[in-house]
Amino acid sequence: MNVVILIIAHWYIGIFIQSLFLHRYVAHQNFEMNTYLEKFFFILNYIIFGSSYMSPAAFARMHELHHHHADGEEDPHTPSNTWGFLGTIVRARNSYQDVYHGRKNSQPARTYPEWKFLDRLGHHWLSRVTWVIVYIFLYSVIAEQWWHYLLLPITVAMGALQGGLVNHLAHKVGYRNYNTADNSRNILRLDLLFLGEAYHNNHHKFPHKLNLAKKWYEFDPIFFFLKCLDYLHIIKIKKRAL
Ligand SMILES: [Zn+2]
Ligand SMILES: [Zn+2]
Repeated sequence: MNVVILIIAHWYIGIFIQSLFLHRYVAHQNFEMNTYLEKFFFILNYIIFGSSYMSPAAFARMHELHHHHADGEEDPHTPSNTWGFLGTIVRARNSYQDVYHGRKNSQPARTYPEWKFLDRLGHHWLSRVTWVIVYIFLYSVIAEQWWHYLLLPITVAMGALQGGLVNHLAHKVGYRNYNTADNSRNILRLDLLFLGEAYHNNHHKFPHKLNLAKKWYEFDPIFFFLKCLDYLHIIKIKKRAL
């Protein structure tokens, strides 16, 4: 049970970072935060994803390609013409490596916040292996059943798994509010699983808007949280994003 709780907590903190920091802050630059808070999120991104660390700037450069070429040849992670979920993950992983090493989108439309030291650290094999050892140790302390160890790959690959699930499902299953040129879909009507990221068809229609929910029954928890931070003057939401 403890391992299941660990995975659920890891899932939600991971989605929180991917949505708030990687997607809405670094990639779309929908709001501003001070340097200390930004550094805090960079470090949190490294600690929470550990073995599956992704460079925020490379994530953003890859995401830029996705918005420009959604479901086309140049889309870094379209589920079209791939063999299922695994195909989307492999395509995304290869595209990410190409972008990170400057073989793809080396001249992005804008500059993205980056911390090169953390990128080098997070990408180093020693860092990734150390995190896997940490997870095995953690499991050895809290696992109550032998089969709990079968869940270890979820912890090891959490970053890739979450990115892959959103990218795959949001261009495959769900409903459409808008007739966009791509296959984007809103995965869930009430998105308590991806904290707002499931409203992907809305996002493709209005990529610069911070609130991903559009219909009365849709609710975007991250947007609500960011509005509270903005109200408290902890962050500043840009006018164009509202
Ligand atoms: Zn998309
Ligand atoms: Zn986006």
